[in-house]
Amino acid sequence: MAVNVFEDWLNACSGCEISILNIGDPLVDLLNHLNFVHITPLIDHKLFGQLGEKTEMDVPESVVSILSGGVRNDEQKHELQEIRKKTKILIALGTCACHGGIPAQANMFKNEEVFEKVFRQSPSTEPSPDPVDPSVPKWTPTCAALDEVVKVDISIPGCPPHPDWIVEAITALLEGKTAWSLPERSVCDTCPVIREKKSGGGPVKRWLQNMEFNPEEGIDKMRCFNEVGYLCQGPVTLAGCSGKAGVPRCVQARTPCRGCFGPIRKGAQPMVDMMGALSSVGLDAKSMLDRRAMLNRYIGAHGMLKVLPARPTK
Ligand code: SF4
Ligand code: SF4
Ligand code: SF4
Repeated sequence: MAVNVFEDWLNACSGCEISILNIGDPLVDLLNHLNFVHITPLIDHKLFGQLGEKTEMDVPESVVSILSGGVRNDEQKHELQEIRKKTKILIALGTCACHGGIPAQANMFKNEEVFEKVFRQSPSTEPSPDPVDPSVPKWTPTCAALDEVVKVDISIPGCPPHPDWIVEAITALLEGKTAWSLPERSVCDTCPVIREKKSGGGPVKRWLQNMEFNPEEGIDKMRCFNEVGYLCQGPVTLAGCSGKAGVPRCVQARTPCRGCFGPIRKGAQPMVDMMGALSSVGLDAKSMLDRRAMLNRYIGAHGMLKVLPARPTK
């Protein structure tokens, strides 16, 4: 018998759902075993009744729920809590759901500061008041990962997550398992570039300058980005962005890793560890501009990014 599955996006961009569709042919096989009761990109099913006639959110029962995006407003928080009550296994899909993702960069600022910037100071926008219509859901104090609000059973990180891992996690559940996770390896562990454990020293260069490499040569003939002075977050980022095989996606494109799969293990401190990795090859880690934002670019939930107390005036 097919398993009932609920899928939805919260504070998300829909890229994670594209990854579900990008499963391709294996998705057709999986669909023989899955009965989607709600999946925004594929089924026109609404949570307040098909014609919006219900005043209360009505979340259908499911065995598995897959949610992308973090929690940014009261309505998303309520939906997440309702889903948790009505499902057995909750999957956080994508880095926004697992770690807050790019939207959690806003956690460095008070909500009022963000509204001020967006509604009044943006050069491309006519100044306007904050949304006051009561039908617009109120922002939560921070942009949160799902597990800051409810218990999450399985996390599939990535921005976007690789389709291989979505298939593997769902297949594990169909086989009766209740847990699944990526192995704790770093992007560097899967990277074939040349490493000499030293750089020429000096400040960390901004990725505004072109790196030098020979496009005629394979990636395995290219030197490690950190060792030629550019920030590459491979040392502190969970491996898996190329699925079951292959060179890390950005390195394939001769671009440094920006950390989109999040930390290698729970409780890690990627910012501290990355500063250590840069120093260990002789770079001046403190020379990096905006390092708090840069090194927590995808992982601002769980208190990794927060409003800092104002510095005393001299
Ligand atoms: S993890 Fe990436 S792809 Fe998924 S919702 Fe967030 S920004 Fe979009
Ligand atoms: S730091 Fe970047 S380029 Fe160097 S080994 Fe790690 S992932 Fe590869
Ligand atoms: S190399 Fe890093 S930033 Fe690029 S896709 Fe992989 S994990 Fe994400």
